[in-house]
Amino acid sequence: MERRGANQPRVGGYNQAVILDQIRRAGGLSRVELAAATGLSAQTVSNISQRLLDAGIIEEAGRTSGTAGGPGKPRTTLRLVGSSRHAVGVHLDPSVLTIVLLAIDGTVVASHRRPTPSANAPTRTMRLITREIEKLLDASGVERDSVVGVGIAAPGPIDAERGVIVDPPNLGGWHRVPLRDAVAEATGLPVVLDKDVTAAAVAERWVDAAAAAQSFAFLYMGTGLGMGLMLGDDVVRGGSGNAGEIGHIVTDPQGPVCSCGMRGCIAVSCTPASLVAEAEDLGILPATRVGSDPRTIDDAFTALVKLAGRGHVGALGVLERAAERIARALAVVCNLLDVDRVIIGGPAWSRLAPWFERQVPEVLSGLLVARGLHHVEIVGTSLGEDVGAIGAACLVLDEALTPRPTSLLVG
Ligand SMILES: [Zn+2]
Repeated sequence: MERRGANQPRVGGYNQAVILDQIRRAGGLSRVELAAATGLSAQTVSNISQRLLDAGIIEEAGRTSGTAGGPGKPRTTLRLVGSSRHAVGVHLDPSVLTIVLLAIDGTVVASHRRPTPSANAPTRTMRLITREIEKLLDASGVERDSVVGVGIAAPGPIDAERGVIVDPPNLGGWHRVPLRDAVAEATGLPVVLDKDVTAAAVAERWVDAAAAAQSFAFLYMGTGLGMGLMLGDDVVRGGSGNAGEIGHIVTDPQGPVCSCGMRGCIAVSCTPASLVAEAEDLGILPATRVGSDPRTIDDAFTALVKLAGRGHVGALGVLERAAERIARALAVVCNLLDVDRVIIGGPAWSRLAPWFERQVPEVLSGLLVARGLHHVEIVGTSLGEDVGAIGAACLVLDEALTPRPTSLLVG
């Protein structure tokens, strides 16, 4: 289902966001097509288009005949001016920090990735984030005035209202850290903070017209596991902005003990750290992991995947069992929410994809209650490891382009 507009003056801001959304997804649309796609009156579309043209956010880009191959009044195509507005997206994963500069038309103008400093150093990490933002902006050459803000995607739980990272299990030492305000103060830019999984789902919806028309779940595989949800074209944040905590779905009742008191939660049987632990216990990897340092574990995880790539039977077994457990957890989600599609991404995904892309759908398809009615598609993200950062930037552009009394852009 596509977002529809509403023909009342007080929802003008929402309508403007809907129109921009349609133009971006289609690449370009005429006013007549916009009215048809949004359900808004011709007058409303015309007024909003004029406002966006005046602000330089859209431009008129040539004329097409009214109907395909038939007669009709020529129509002017409206399209986004990519260079008119930008947003910075930051994705703070416990092991990798990703920063992108996104243009309003969805183009990634610049991106940069580097290891996150050790988990117990929130102050150092905040300073690093600020420095990396400034470096990226300087190197990109875009006008500072065109940058509407910074979006930060971070592991939950977060206090969305206050912009605070609360106490994420995979970021040791981060207790109620006011990341949003710290970055806003240091950069002088407006900042929004959201959960990494929510940002990833928003990114998919932003760039992919097919995803936009569907209900989908985004399985995020990083240091931890989480899920972003888009149901009927609406992002699901839940009561406190912390929806999507799937880590404690039990798929192996004999599995390792979890901090929640149960056994075999996917949080302790499918994360890179747990796969590394399993491989070390089986003697597949040398027992070298040091505490819970995310970077050490990440390196060991890469070594495990390389072994599997060389056909090591033990390593392949570890990955196969993990794929089955993930499929079982996805079955719970798919059966509960009846989504059309599961998109998988996150820093661990590119390494797991060669195995999971084949095995997860195989196991999942047998577990779906509605399998006779519709197929649930499992796909890897097309946005690669930048997906969380791109989504964070999308959140800022959405926010900035919805005019309100506090609007960052046009009112
Ligand atoms: Zn648990």
